[in-house]
Amino acid sequence: MNKVDHIGIAVKNMEESLEYYIHTLGLEVMAIEEVESQGVKVAFIDAHNVKIELLEPMSEASPIAKFIEKRGEGVHHIAFGVSDIRTRMQELKEKGVNLLQDEPKPGAGGAEVAFMHPKSSYGVLYELCEKTKGE
Ligand code: ZN
Repeated sequence: MNKVDHIGIAVKNMEESLEYYIHTLGLEVMAIEEVESQGVKVAFIDAHNVKIELLEPMSEASPIAKFIEKRGEGVHHIAFGVSDIRTRMQELKEKGVNLLQDEPKPGAGGAEVAFMHPKSSYGVLYELCEKTKGE
């Protein structure tokens, strides 16, 4: 794994939570976009050595909506940057790690992403994240 790329945080209301990150914590927003494949609106915040990814569900069917319903707002996943996601997924599978998908899927910022099942990772939902264009 390369360094931690970002920490994903589930929020009910993007606008309200952005107020907190920008005005209370004094951080800056890098980008806001909608990621259809995951049914979420995403904001990346620059926390200098790592990014914070706010995830707001766009519908009840979004996995993030289900997460908030079950566990409330808060830390959802931790993402490791990787350089060859398909090879990395294969290696993890061979080591007995359960992945939530067989093929990487499109994530925010043009990245390819895959998730490791929390049951394989001592309770943490880890994301593998490969940037296909720039950082
Ligand atoms: Zn993420």
